Amino acid sequence: MNYIIMDLEWNNSYMKSAQRFVNEIIEVGAVKLDESLNTVGTFSEIIKPVLSKKLRSRIKNLTNISNDDIKAGKPFSEVISEFEKWVGDDSVVLSWGDTDIRTLLTNVKCFLNKEDISFIRKYADLQRYCQCFINMENVQQAGLSYAAECLQIDAEKFPHHRALDDSLLSAECFKKTFNKDKLNEFIKECNEDFYARLAFHPYVIRKKDDPLIDKNVFNCVCDICGGNVKVIKKWKFSNQSFRGIFYCKKCDREFRVSLRIKKFYDRIDIKRNYSEIIHTEEQTEENT
Ligand SMILES: [Zn+2]
Repeated sequence: MNYIIMDLEWNNSYMKSAQRFVNEIIEVGAVKLDESLNTVGTFSEIIKPVLSKKLRSRIKNLTNISNDDIKAGKPFSEVISEFEKWVGDDSVVLSWGDTDIRTLLTNVKCFLNKEDISFIRKYADLQRYCQCFINMENVQQAGLSYAAECLQIDAEKFPHHRALDDSLLSAECFKKTFNKDKLNEFIKECNEDFYARLAFHPYVIRKKDDPLIDKNVFNCVCDICGGNVKVIKKWKFSNQSFRGIFYCKKCDREFRVSLRIKKFYDRIDIKRNYSEIIHTEEQTEENT
């Protein structure tokens, strides 16, 4: 079995037929490691985009890929069929975060009219795996260069932010942290459920009567004494959260609660935040 560490570059372009913006892949880079983690091959191809012939300046500056480079690139279908052969039958594909595989799925749907990436049979999110070995105290998600730094890998050896360079750097992180049992926890079969999950876009629930919400989440008690509270300002949705103001008689305090309810593929995530309301008169008293 081989490990394929893949990285993609893309250009955000408007797709008329879909009436939306699509991250169109312009480069595929990958490293192939055998079971003993020896590098047995690399893959690097530039794709000629069909939606826009001009790269956004951010991409040009980041990758140094030019408009002439993509003009000379190969069609998406050709690169993907070469990549498919190169990946082979017995591989686990890894990428740093799942954005790359999501983007690949979108491109396969848009440009090849296929529902899944047939040649990826097993997949692992390398970022999530590597984070098990990094002190994550001050970060939510470790970027590739941050992870490399934590793992004492010299990222300067791969300075170009090109697909192949980034996949080589990811591969270094993979080698440095390699633990087969741990990795097995992250390897997923790419079945129907996997693709449904990948295609799902999490969203914030904005309506109080959404059938997905258990109405009890709007019942509020004082976060200090746990007692009943009086509603001062009813729940109202604004800026990604439901917000309300409440009064606890026992504690003689007014507080604001914000409730962000987000739907993920197979769960609902609820973030509840309490904040004290301090009236100006009281503040003046305290200050004197
Ligand atoms: Zn209270």
